[in-house]
Amino acid sequence: VMVHQRETISRLPAYKQGATAGDSGAFKLSSNENPFPPLASVTRAIASALGEIHLYPSMAVAELTDRIAARFDVATENVAFGAGSVEVLSQLIHASAGAGDEVIFAWRSFEAYPILVQVAGATPVPIALTDDECHDLTAMAAAITPQTRLILVCNPNNPTGAFVTTDELHAFMAQVPADVLVVVDEAYGHFNRDASSAVGIDFFRRYPNVAVLHTFSKAYGLAGLRIGYAIAPTAVAANLRRVALPFGVTELAQRAALASLDAEAELSVRIDEIVGERTRVLSALRASGWRVTDSQGNFVWLRTGDGTDRVNAVFTAEGILARAFPGEGLRVTIGTPEQNDRFLVAAAAALLPVT
Ligand code: PMP
Repeated sequence: VMVHQRETISRLPAYKQGATAGDSGAFKLSSNENPFPPLASVTRAIASALGEIHLYPSMAVAELTDRIAARFDVATENVAFGAGSVEVLSQLIHASAGAGDEVIFAWRSFEAYPILVQVAGATPVPIALTDDECHDLTAMAAAITPQTRLILVCNPNNPTGAFVTTDELHAFMAQVPADVLVVVDEAYGHFNRDASSAVGIDFFRRYPNVAVLHTFSKAYGLAGLRIGYAIAPTAVAANLRRVALPFGVTELAQRAALASLDAEAELSVRIDEIVGERTRVLSALRASGWRVTDSQGNFVWLRTGDGTDRVNAVFTAEGILARAFPGEGLRVTIGTPEQNDRFLVAAAAALLPVT
């Protein structure tokens, strides 16, 4: 006799981590991690908190909440933290949608979206991307029903790197009922250099039904410490705190995030380098014959379709671990110049006819 388990959960695909390199010497470009090691000031801040790990962390994430509120000129009531922005996303979904409720998002997008929606017992409504890899906001607006509770907009989109413009998002918001929350997931926002892109915080200020999701994992390089936050309408942020597991954000993560905010100038140099490498990688790919769309993330997207497994096998043989979406494409994270060079060699090799 099996113990009773929710049917929806047993049928769910578990979230899969990108391929790991082990001791193969391969370059792991499968998880959109930051290629730079932690800043010395950040490791010092973490070390300074090691003597306190027998104590619970500040559950209110008080100091950091004040810093983020000041940085974005919002009230502290509007800021809510979690163990990575994926946890805050989970809180947003659980607070907004349950059985019978619908959550709209673009697809393909971040793999966790449909999983978290189903874990909450709600119904995922994935809307296909346009041919140029962008959110189809017209189709997303048309998919709104009286059951719609939440809409996720991933900007820039993982894994395609496409972005939503300010004008497009305003036109979209005009079609969203005022009682439906729109979440702008800006996990890769720091890498977005297109001036026409929508900026989540501007939409938060303008509309009472917009929340923004930020993370310290990507541009700030704290993926291993798990810390992210939402800037959300007061009532929503209060519910995120109700939904959150107690003490989810460690003191080490809080100290590291504070030290990162102190080092923003230093970090922005690194972000610029990653963006510069992205530009170099995209032009080298095009020069070698690849047709690739622009990306505003710290990754590039190869729409390899049915050839995905074949290309991925070449990449693996060349020591490049990418994130493969069979039948769709490959997402490759921008790494160090050395890693990117090896990726470009692999990409060129994958274009050669098989002998
Ligand atoms: N949103 C998007 C679009 C992502 O790609 C990711 C990470 N892959 C996350 C959120 C979650 O990141 P984290 O939990 O590390 O903040």
